[in-house]
Amino acid sequence: MDLTVQMEEKQVGKHSRIVKLALSILLVLSILVVPNCSQAATKTMTVHFINVGQGDSTWIHTPDGKNIVIDGGKKQAGTTVVDYLKKKHVKTIDVLIATHPDSDHIGGLPKIIQSFKIKNVYAPKVSHTTKTYKDFLKAVKQKHVKIKTAKKGVKLPMQSVDAAFVGPVKTYSNSDTNDWSAVLRVSFKRNSFLFTGDAANRAEKDMMHTGENLHANVLKVGHHGSQYSTSSTFLKKVKPAYAVISVGKNSYGHPTKATLDRLKKAKVKIYRTDKSGHIIATANGSSIKFNAKPSSTKAPVKKTTSKNAAAYKLNAKLDNTHPKQYSTVHLMVKGLPNGTKYKAVFHYKSKNTSYNGKVGKTLPVKISRASTSYRVNVDVTATYKNKTYHAKTSFLPK
Ligand SMILES: [Zn+2]
Repeated sequence: MDLTVQMEEKQVGKHSRIVKLALSILLVLSILVVPNCSQAATKTMTVHFINVGQGDSTWIHTPDGKNIVIDGGKKQAGTTVVDYLKKKHVKTIDVLIATHPDSDHIGGLPKIIQSFKIKNVYAPKVSHTTKTYKDFLKAVKQKHVKIKTAKKGVKLPMQSVDAAFVGPVKTYSNSDTNDWSAVLRVSFKRNSFLFTGDAANRAEKDMMHTGENLHANVLKVGHHGSQYSTSSTFLKKVKPAYAVISVGKNSYGHPTKATLDRLKKAKVKIYRTDKSGHIIATANGSSIKFNAKPSSTKAPVKKTTSKNAAAYKLNAKLDNTHPKQYSTVHLMVKGLPNGTKYKAVFHYKSKNTSYNGKVGKTLPVKISRASTSYRVNVDVTATYKNKTYHAKTSFLPK
């Protein structure tokens, strides 16, 4: 009895020694292996298209741990971006880019600037008079950072990736803020991304004319899928496999069917923040993976809701409401996209006369012998996307 017990104890002792040895071997192995593992895990570039509703905000985390933030969405989206970055343990933003001064891009930036250490800020050389833009400048100033000019040829101070602006190529008028968009191309080994801000067709053309390499595996679609961005010639040049559209509820019809159709024709897989929320692309230098499934390439069925209708309000104005007989009055109609056809009916005392005009274009009308002191009412009617809009004005000949 005693003997067997002793023997069993001996066996147990032997076993535990083997277990201990195995454990220590494992420990040594893990010390040797783990650092390599984690190194391999960080050797990727992740690009986060943060869901900020209608607007843009992108965070690029480079393989060596640097942070690039492009735009910050609308003012109310600032907190969304700050929370997102803090959750991912971001403390320093190495490069902050304000693509252009529109509020759906820079509105959230002051909050972001105040919340992190900011090393570099880049923006195109276009000034703006809005409060949103002034708030952005103020926030940058408070951090004692000088804004560097974002334009074609400017390289970002990055080691593990190549990042350079390919636009803006030219200067544009101050009112064309979209074409001023800073366009950044980032590549990590064989993976490349193009972030176009709200650049429209003219800016796209100007970029193509430079002969600069615009190819990208992933295209951040310009201007939330507006029909005036992402031309088919631009798509032929960029040749993306994937497209990301940063878009939320809006009254502009973004993303437009025209743009979705062009992407579909070019066989590009489309990801949308309004459908998938935050979209994360992970690039390992040879292939790119997404956290979401591509959204259907079918354009959404446009519903003419009362909200959409409220977005448009037709209005008509005359340059002279007390014209002389036989003079010419000029009618200006606004409130629908420029070029939309309208009909204006002038209710003269003797008869009604109809004129055809286009929204945004002055329509000269000779009033002939219009009776003095008889108010001539003018009814304007325009049809846009199967909906009819009305506006009124009048004049009193003297
Ligand atoms: Zn925008």
